[in-house]
Amino acid sequence: MAEMKGLESLLNIQTGITMELTSEVCDNHPLRGDKPIHLMVIDGEKVCPVCEGEKRTEELAKKQENLLKVADRKTSYNVFQKKSVLTDIGLLETSFKNYEAVESEEIANKDKAVEVFRRYKGGEVFNTWFVGKPGVGKSHLSMSILRNLNEWGNQDQSCLFVSVDEMLLRIRNSFNDKESKYTEFYFVDLLSQVDYLVLDDLGAETGGTGTAKRATDFTMRVLYAIANGRQNKPSIITSNLSLVDLESMYDAKLVSRLMRDTCLIRFQNTVDKRIRNINF
Ligand SMILES: [Zn+2]
Repeated sequence: MAEMKGLESLLNIQTGITMELTSEVCDNHPLRGDKPIHLMVIDGEKVCPVCEGEKRTEELAKKQENLLKVADRKTSYNVFQKKSVLTDIGLLETSFKNYEAVESEEIANKDKAVEVFRRYKGGEVFNTWFVGKPGVGKSHLSMSILRNLNEWGNQDQSCLFVSVDEMLLRIRNSFNDKESKYTEFYFVDLLSQVDYLVLDDLGAETGGTGTAKRATDFTMRVLYAIANGRQNKPSIITSNLSLVDLESMYDAKLVSRLMRDTCLIRFQNTVDKRIRNINF
């Protein structure tokens, strides 16, 4: 006991914390090894040193877990910025607010897009297709949905915007460039993993519109793999092609898979907004 006193006064000098051993035994640790654990009075509070140690370990584990969660959330949030494949940087400025809706079809389609965002936010799973001629704002509205999803709530959803044509080009280049990270596996894996995906301008990759061109086996293989990987995740797809053209370009099975549970937003009367904006 004389030794213990010495230790106590040493602790006291070094930390300013007073501690005193009691004769009470901890209920949780009546025996540890072959000795009971006695409660101590530390700074006026009666505690079991072993229980305190365990609590501290648990707290640290929780803290660690929270740090990992925050890191995960940040990683998901940054997918949009770091991994999207854009050919038009101007799309990064798009929002529902700066979508110019004048004609009734534009107004109705913008409202539909806002509703799509609202439903995705509520956890609903379905696909959205924007179909219509070039320049009517399909990419603009799909990007607006995606950016809102990325910013919403805890910002823990991974969102990705991919220009189909550019993605296929990068994969094709990777066949000859062994250093390239943009392999078929990279894109199929990435596009399958993300929570929300925009596939922009489907059908543009083969060139002509309305021509009887068939997609190559390579294109079909990549699109099939992505469609399979996203069966329970929402995808937003934009295309200049009609559904009939899409079916003849790919095959009915792929198109029907991509169109399962689809909200179709069609532009039929809207003219090219990029051309309309130029007035002399
Ligand atoms: Zn204890």
